[in-house]
Amino acid sequence: MLIIGLTGGIGSGKTTVCNYFSALGIPVIDADVAAREVVQPGQPGLSQVIEIFGQDILTSANTLNRSKLREQIFYDESSRKKLEAILHPLIRQQMDKKLAGLKTPYAILAIPLLLESGRREGIDRILVIDADESQQIARACQRDHQSKNQIHTIIAAQCSRKDRLSAADDVIYNTGDLEQLNSQVTEMHNRYLRLAAQNS
Ligand code: ADP
Repeated sequence: MLIIGLTGGIGSGKTTVCNYFSALGIPVIDADVAAREVVQPGQPGLSQVIEIFGQDILTSANTLNRSKLREQIFYDESSRKKLEAILHPLIRQQMDKKLAGLKTPYAILAIPLLLESGRREGIDRILVIDADESQQIARACQRDHQSKNQIHTIIAAQCSRKDRLSAADDVIYNTGDLEQLNSQVTEMHNRYLRLAAQNS
């Protein structure tokens, strides 16, 4: 099966594009969903997170306090690295489990931090969703009700547009309206069906 790694900056249109691929019957496996699943109560991932950060990292309902964890690792690179060393392989396994048994010609792995995390293994092509920074900011502000500055800080911490585009095998340019976006997804879908047929 052809595996597409889909990525892009905040507000670039990843979720919208994933919804269009899903509507075409293509499975989309989301790294953010997998990342939440591996730290659910009772999962080994959560016990390992507690081993590093202590019981204080839990909410009163004994679930992971994600905003506290984000705060803790924001300024502390060594604990961020420890956390990633635990969670990345678990997230990977979780996504592989979901891939196993799928019968479609291709599948999408939606990984917002694909380029930042350096994960390439098991991915045949990198699909980047690209937009102008001003569009990213406007769309993300509207969606998340965050300030321009907050979105700008997130963009600055992510991979640059130039680096992302140079790592891409395929690009969807989300610089127009939603109709233009949808038709590019349909074109890309047909291209992936052709590529999958050539590979099989
Ligand atoms: P991401 O998942 O990359 O952060 P989203 O797909 O959630 O981005 O898009 C961010 C916001 O912008 C959403 O509210 C979405 O509906 C809207 N959006 C995305 N693409 C367009 C577009 N081409 N025109 C108008 N709004 C868009």
